[in-house]
Amino acid sequence: MASNGQHRVHVGALRQRLGQRLDVEIEQDVPGLEVIASRTTEEPVVGTLTIESIERGVSVTGVLDVPWMADCRRCLEPVRGTERAVVDEIFQVGAEPGGDLIPFDGETVVLDQVVHDTALAALPLSPLCEPDCAGPDPDRYRPGLGERPVDPDESTEAAIDPRWAALQDLELDE
Ligand SMILES: [Zn+2]
Repeated sequence: MASNGQHRVHVGALRQRLGQRLDVEIEQDVPGLEVIASRTTEEPVVGTLTIESIERGVSVTGVLDVPWMADCRRCLEPVRGTERAVVDEIFQVGAEPGGDLIPFDGETVVLDQVVHDTALAALPLSPLCEPDCAGPDPDRYRPGLGERPVDPDESTEAAIDPRWAALQDLELDE
C-alpha cells in the first residue's frame, strides 16, 4: 500500500466529546487504479470529509469527486468524466480487520486508504462517451474495406501457417 500519510488526522481531542465534528479537505492523487476499461487520471480526488466523534470511534462521511478516463465501451473513443462518490465509513477501536468497520488506535485516523478505496469503487464499469452512443461510426470504420486499424497480431493469426498448409495438402492426397 502506497500511502503518503497526507490525510493522517489526530482525533484524540475530538473524541473527548461525542458529536464533535471536524471537516478535512481532501486532495489526493490515486494514480494507476483500473477497473475493466476505466482508470484514474493524473487529476487528484477532491472533496470534503467530515469526521465525527461517536461511541468507540469516529464516523467519516462526505462526498469525493473522482476523475476518471476510459474507452467508450461502444465506440472505443477516449472519454473522461468525474464520478461523485459518497463516503460513509466508521473507524472503531477494536474492530475486526477485514470487516465493515475500520480498526484504529483511537487517536489517529488515516484517510488515504478510504480515499483510495472510494476512488476504485467509483470507476464506471460501462463507460460511455454519451448516454446514447450508437457505437462505431459506420463512415469511419468499415470492416472488410481495409479501413479498420491493422492489428499485427490479428493478421499473423489469420495467415495460414505453412506447416498446416502442407498437412492440408497431404489430406487431400489420401
Ligand atoms: Zn461512444
